[in-house]
Amino acid sequence: MEHSIRRKSSIRGWGGHPTIEAQEFTPNHAEGLAGGNVHYHPRGLGRSYGDAALPGAGHASLNTKRLDHFIDFDEENHILTAESGVSLEKILEYFVPKGYFLPVTPGTKFVSLGGAVAGNVHGKNHHHHGSIEHFVKKMRVSTPIGTFDCSPDERSDLFYGTIGGYGMTGLIEQVSLQLKPVETSYFKVTKMRARNLEHLFELFELYDHYTFSMAWMDTLARGSQMGRSVLMMGEHATLADLPQKLRKDPLALPKPFKPNIPFYAPEFLLNRLFLSLFNLGFYTFNYKNNGEEHIEDYDTFFYPLDFIHNWYKMYGRAGFLQYQMSIPDPHGREGMREAVEFLTKQGIGSFLSVVKRCGEDEGIIPFCQKGYTLALDIPFRPERLKILDEVDKIVLKYGGRVYLGKDSRLSADMFRKMYPKASEEWKKVIDHYNPERTVSSHLAERLKI
Ligand SMILES: Cc1cc2nc3c(=O)[nH]c(=O)nc-3n(C[C@H](O)[C@H](O)[C@H](O)COP(=O)(O)OP(=O)(O)OC[C@H]3O[C@@H](n4cnc5c(N)ncnc54)[C@H](O)[C@@H]3O)c2cc1C
Repeated sequence: MEHSIRRKSSIRGWGGHPTIEAQEFTPNHAEGLAGGNVHYHPRGLGRSYGDAALPGAGHASLNTKRLDHFIDFDEENHILTAESGVSLEKILEYFVPKGYFLPVTPGTKFVSLGGAVAGNVHGKNHHHHGSIEHFVKKMRVSTPIGTFDCSPDERSDLFYGTIGGYGMTGLIEQVSLQLKPVETSYFKVTKMRARNLEHLFELFELYDHYTFSMAWMDTLARGSQMGRSVLMMGEHATLADLPQKLRKDPLALPKPFKPNIPFYAPEFLLNRLFLSLFNLGFYTFNYKNNGEEHIEDYDTFFYPLDFIHNWYKMYGRAGFLQYQMSIPDPHGREGMREAVEFLTKQGIGSFLSVVKRCGEDEGIIPFCQKGYTLALDIPFRPERLKILDEVDKIVLKYGGRVYLGKDSRLSADMFRKMYPKASEEWKKVIDHYNPERTVSSHLAERLKI
């Protein structure tokens, strides 16, 4: 570890709750990590909202930002092998001009490849293509008992315990990911407004054939407008779909545009009135695009939140909680309705909330289930923790789950009930590869994994 820089840092997830003090180091290579002599927890670009990337007590945070090299590209099978600290942004910038796109992407490109795999991220195409687990062909993982290559056919216990395993088997050193060949870097997009939650469900099911879909929901609208939303659907655009002026450079990268929020928003901006106006503005602004197909670049379609670099500052110094649940069919609609009704009654404000259709996750720590998922950003107030405990009960009643990559508050008991298989099988894999918990996180300690 002679190339590492160690310093004491304040470490937080994207939501800022909790924030802890811990040692941080940024190695140039993974040598010396296997063997269990170093107590650490891996961290990518810190876009998980809660405590998944916060080290456990007495552990240092291993920042992967220097492990960011491409290693190989197998053109025949479109498989990229890269170090885990490479960001999705870097992959897009290099491979889109060559005619490849990510097979699955979360709503930000500022995540590392290792973080995307360790969180088994899902995107707007989950109902058709599932999470990133389906496109990971191989990994090299430095575990406390040694460094191993793994795949669905080789050490499959390590492979499936590491995908969506939140760093608990050790450091993912390398990932081989299958990319998707594309004709253009653009998307054909259609937006539709849904009057309320029932209308949204109808539209989602009617337009299920779209490869990509998601909706922004106004969780502050009440009564007959409860759950009003803007549904966005899309497909990769072919060359023939592009207007003439874009055909000259069909694989162009979007133009960079990154305003910053220079300071934390004051508390008074986070009141119900301001959040309602924000949501109303979003719903009204999108009227223009009601049902018409148009072309968008990939930043506009996938990463609208990345346009404002430090947008978490909108939530003030206290930070925010992100609550994401998945509720399976046949109770997806019913469970979502009850949860949204409950949250609306509590007046819990969110700038914007996201609804998606889900397919099934297959790993041993599966979050998505065929049905619906809802994600809300909630300004942090201590009294809201109790309200969210009540939402947990609704989610559990319908067989739902809370997304660990966004969580900082679920109890160990609820975790076991929501993830009965994971709490057994995942623990078995961790007990084997990380028996002394020399690799451990705040999340793992909270959930007693
Ligand atoms: C604006 C925004 C939109 C988002 N949209 C989505 C979405 O649509 N779908 C979705 O699924 N998620 C979404 N997320 C969450 C985010 O994609 C995941 O939390 C992702 O795991 C973050 O990657 P990261 O590199 O920032 O990792 P970090 O946040 O640093 O770490 C996340 C987890 O991965 C582990 N980890 C990181 N690197 C390694 C490694 N090399 N080896 C082993 N373990 C490692 C960490 O220990 C931690 O448990 C969103 C987040 C933001 C901020």
